[in-house]
Amino acid sequence: MAEKEKQPKQKAPRMAKKDYYKVDDGKVTRTRKHCPKCGPGVFMAEHENRVSCGKCGYTEFKKK
Ligand SMILES: [Zn+2]
Repeated sequence: MAEKEKQPKQKAPRMAKKDYYKVDDGKVTRTRKHCPKCGPGVFMAEHENRVSCGKCGYTEFKKK
C-alpha cells in the first residue's frame, strides 16, 4: 500500500510494526485488534471512528 507523506498528526503518529505489541512487565499485549476475516496476525488499521483491515477491506465502526 502506497503511503503519501503528509504532515504528521500529533494524535496519530505513524506506527511501526513493533508498536502493535506492548511489553508490560514481560507480558506481551496486543494493542491492536486483528481482522476477524483474515485472522490473528493481520491487524486492523486504527482510524478516528473506525478500524479497517488493509488486506481484505473489512471495516468496523467504533461505538462510542
Ligand atoms: Zn482482513
